[in-house]
Amino acid sequence: MGNEAHIDRAIELLRQARHVVALTGAGISTPSGIPDYRSPKSGLWEKAADMVEVATLAAFRRQPLAFYDWLRPLLHVIREAQPNPAHLALAQLEAVGRLQAIITQNIDLLHSRAGSHQVYEIHGHLREVVCPTCHNVVPAEPLLDAFMAAGKVPHCPRCRHIMKPSVVLFGELLPWRAMKAAQHHCATADVMIVVGSSLQVAPAADLPEMALANGARLIIINYNETHLDDQADVVLRGDVAEVLPQLADPFQTRPAPLEEPPPEGPHLGLVGKNPSAGEVRIER
Ligand SMILES: [Zn+2]
Repeated sequence: MGNEAHIDRAIELLRQARHVVALTGAGISTPSGIPDYRSPKSGLWEKAADMVEVATLAAFRRQPLAFYDWLRPLLHVIREAQPNPAHLALAQLEAVGRLQAIITQNIDLLHSRAGSHQVYEIHGHLREVVCPTCHNVVPAEPLLDAFMAAGKVPHCPRCRHIMKPSVVLFGELLPWRAMKAAQHHCATADVMIVVGSSLQVAPAADLPEMALANGARLIIINYNETHLDDQADVVLRGDVAEVLPQLADPFQTRPAPLEEPPPEGPHLGLVGKNPSAGEVRIER
């Protein structure tokens, strides 16, 4: 089956589905310029050993400044990034009722910025910062602005401890509300779309298995193989920013074709208008 036949099959599954959930990983944001830390050539995440040294909760408590030093270049890239056609396609599918939820491993907020509403960020997000001491939570943007502009590390307004972005560090528990909602959607879904995730990181990797166990059909869109490819109904290898819009396209609401000519008005273009006949002709 060529990619086109695969896409038709995926569209058919979406058409018949009652509850669709998408699971997205780093691969949906690479077309927006955010590198996948598991891809060996990305300059940002090159020093994976450093990451494990600084991006654990214990390391953050010990050396928060080292953590923020490490975070700075990544933060810069994420804050500059824009949603790409893959994010927009998922937002469109939700808007027309063809997608009930997105579960994402990404912290970059690009799904919300693309217009998606039901988004469960199981690895946390950069929307807020949290105080590891008194658990105070405040909006991240002004504090991260000050950090990027002047190197001012966020301090808790209540207890003055250094605050941490609401992202899940190594050794931290996943946010239980988001995880619970994610599991609920996986148990309810009859179609799951996996986008840009190699399904190597547990427990996100277990969610499609949960959906499969509940009888859901699986659509996998990813550059690389995953361990669930042979259990998927459709596997699409390719650029998610090209493939996902093709899946969403048939479900777009289009304006009804004009049966009457538009009312005349001073601002309407008159190209092709034949005033004597009172009709609009399209010039070809
Ligand atoms: Zn505090």
